[in-house]
Amino acid sequence: MRNVDLHMHSTVSDGLLRPSEVVALAVRGGVDVLALTDHDDVAGLAEAQAAAAAHGVRLVPGVEISVTWDRLTVHVVGLGIDPAAPALLAGLAAVRAGRVERARRMAASLAAAGIAGAFEGAMAHASSPEMIGRTHFARFLAASGKARSVPAVFKRYLARGKPGYVPHQWAPLEDAVAWIRAAGGLAVLAHPGRYTLGSEGMRRLLTDFRDHGGRSVEVVTSNHTREMVERFARLADAYGLLASRGSDYHGPGESFTAPGMLQPLPASCRPVWHALA
Ligand code: AMP
Ligand code: MN
Ligand code: MN
Ligand code: MN
Repeated sequence: MRNVDLHMHSTVSDGLLRPSEVVALAVRGGVDVLALTDHDDVAGLAEAQAAAAAHGVRLVPGVEISVTWDRLTVHVVGLGIDPAAPALLAGLAAVRAGRVERARRMAASLAAAGIAGAFEGAMAHASSPEMIGRTHFARFLAASGKARSVPAVFKRYLARGKPGYVPHQWAPLEDAVAWIRAAGGLAVLAHPGRYTLGSEGMRRLLTDFRDHGGRSVEVVTSNHTREMVERFARLADAYGLLASRGSDYHGPGESFTAPGMLQPLPASCRPVWHALA
């Protein structure tokens, strides 16, 4: 049976390994179809593609777009995209421009809470100013002893209501799905179990997502419990959405599920990779 992992990050966004290293690690984990899905950027895909060819595995070109839906941050993965598609590139560039501006506000908010130099500190962990994100702030804060780990920093400083949290407007859901479709890709709702939505809210999100042209939902991902896997398998089926499997790997020591090590999709699911050309 194939081992498919369609959600991973590299140093291009907030992963700890280079694109070629992510591919090599996935291959060691037995993965034979993989997607690199950096946040809001496709700059790692050429390197990943070359590494995948060298290892004889299939790389699905991907991206994970940051979206604001009903005041909630939601992530939409695009799979099988053409990384040179102009509409996608323009959309991603606009989202990245928002990252720099948000990071300045985060640093100001942290400074007001007595933590100076956070912008520069976070930048030391980021590949470029426009890719700066909360994970880079978390690594800076953990390295300067503000909390004992990256997840602990998130809890104390970066979650909603904490000193380093600032509200931010990402791309509209409709636009993100449209950019992915314009690039010939298939839109996947990432890690639905992570959103703080009741069952009615989740129904609205799935309806909107599908009505805008979304095709799939991540059923198996590292932060989903067995119950969530069952629940989203049922919801995918009810909404006519294909099922995806992806670790959301970020790097050694920060992600506890290595690429390819997740449970298989439930047998009832229609796998998204059957729809990828
Ligand atoms: P951003 O897109 O800059 O807001 O950063 C979001 C990223 O932060 C996610 O993709 C995760 O990599 C990371 N993240 C979010 N929440 C947590 C958490 N509680 N613990 C560790 N990492 C987190
Ligand atoms: Mn991330
Ligand atoms: Mn995500
Ligand atoms: Mn991710």
